[in-house]
Amino acid sequence: MSHIQLKGLQKKFGDTVVLADVDLDIKHGEFCVFIGPSGCGKSTLLRIIAGLEAPSGGDLFIGEARVNDVLPAKRDIAMVFQSYALYPHMTVEENMAFGLRHLNLPAGEIEQRIANAAQALNLNNLLKRKPKELSGGQRQRVAIGRAIVRKPKVFLFDEPLSNLDAALRVKTRVEIAKLHHSLPDVSMIYVTHDQVEAMTLGDKIVLLRPLSGQDDLPSVAQVGHPLELYHHPANRFVAGFIGSPS
Ligand code: ADP
Ligand code: MG
Repeated sequence: MSHIQLKGLQKKFGDTVVLADVDLDIKHGEFCVFIGPSGCGKSTLLRIIAGLEAPSGGDLFIGEARVNDVLPAKRDIAMVFQSYALYPHMTVEENMAFGLRHLNLPAGEIEQRIANAAQALNLNNLLKRKPKELSGGQRQRVAIGRAIVRKPKVFLFDEPLSNLDAALRVKTRVEIAKLHHSLPDVSMIYVTHDQVEAMTLGDKIVLLRPLSGQDDLPSVAQVGHPLELYHHPANRFVAGFIGSPS
């Protein structure tokens, strides 16, 4: 069943069209990767789904509801960015609790959620530390933990690993894959320009192409399983970007 649907979505900044005619259907529990060259609109599309940016045209549905005008906080979505955006004066534990403070959760629930997230992300020994006492990889795990404790229906990731060194990237990627498999009903959308990340994580790849301003082609060059894009690229742009044999 569809979880997130985009129909004819368009985004302009001033007179410049950055996203044209985006049709997309993301199923419940799917891991969908947005990939494409720098500047093609991946982050903008993610921000539109999060509600941080308004579309200029078209419709966005989450579940049954059209959410074009729904505030970010009402969308049941958590977003993890490239920069960790942790609060420097708070401990790891406090950072994770911060987003839960308005939810009127029953006593013990916040502690329980933090304990579960800490367990899942191997943060148990770091709960009392401040962000400056953590490595980049640890900070990114805290940022993911802070998203997990909110129990969102949708996770959005914008190049979450790009500030990490190669070894940590692989490790954190494996953790994100595990997280996906442990949350079968949660849909995840993951922006990257890293082919290996896209190919190993994605159930579905959405390859976006930059618009030249002269054409009116849609932004989405191809949607499909990683192997489908690799073996059956829809056009030369896809073949060139994916580096497939044809
Ligand atoms: P990507 O994430 O794929 O690198 P972005 O979504 O960040 O691409 O940007 C897509 C295009 O939109 C770029 O040309 C960028 O300069 C432009 N853009 C993004 N945000 C804004 C903004 N707030 N105002 C004007 N132009 C923007
Ligand atoms: Mg981006």
